[in-house]
Amino acid sequence: MRKIVIAGNWKMNKTLQEAEAFVQEISDKVPADSQVESIICSPFPFLPSLVEKAKETNVKIAAQTMHESENGAYTGEVSPVMLEDIGITHVIVGHSERREYFAETDESVNRKVHAAFSHGLTPIVCVGETLEQREANKTMDHIESQVKKALKDVREDQVEETIIAYEPIWAIGTGKTASSEDANEVCAHIRQVVKAQFSEAAAEKIVIQYGGSVKPANIKELLAQPDIDGALVGGASLEADSFLQLVEAGRR
Ligand code: PGA
Repeated sequence: MRKIVIAGNWKMNKTLQEAEAFVQEISDKVPADSQVESIICSPFPFLPSLVEKAKETNVKIAAQTMHESENGAYTGEVSPVMLEDIGITHVIVGHSERREYFAETDESVNRKVHAAFSHGLTPIVCVGETLEQREANKTMDHIESQVKKALKDVREDQVEETIIAYEPIWAIGTGKTASSEDANEVCAHIRQVVKAQFSEAAAEKIVIQYGGSVKPANIKELLAQPDIDGALVGGASLEADSFLQLVEAGRR
């Protein structure tokens, strides 16, 4: 059985003190079992301190993006080497906000996926359709194209370790969630795409999250779906109580 992965994406929120207090609070409460994995995706400045705080706990600390190169003249960027060096385990790649505001493309997402694996980082690869694409019945084609391009030339054993987050753009931060059936339909399609491109074993192992206005009130029905293996959560991950409820919902 696949594990459930609950990842909180704080985006550009919190102070160092607030971030530390949050991790301190959840550290003791996140269950020690391996059924559910808890990840906090924090802004860069807090990462070293949070890695330290989360040591010997069941909380993993992730970055929200990174550059694809190991080093170089890229003012303001952070490299996979740096993240690996400070003990980061996961990195979000291709979040729709990065694609929209920071010009990330399917090609740069693919380069980042390769860079992540070269440095022992697990990529959380975001894909999702716009409202226009959904209304024009283009969701499945769009998602298929994003997944194929993101995983281009990735080794099968790495695909098995990848996390894909299906996040319909119209559901992010809007309070609108895809129905659990609709979300599952797309997640099942992603699994089919992985099966066709790689293998049945890879499709069975890859973790596929849903994201977009996930909260304690709706997570149970989402996780009850057979192809939804967790959630990438923005707003509802900012309060420790709410994050812990999401993690609790992942225990089976
Ligand atoms: P939301 O954000 O939970 O606030 O909708 C999800 C995300 O952007 O990952």
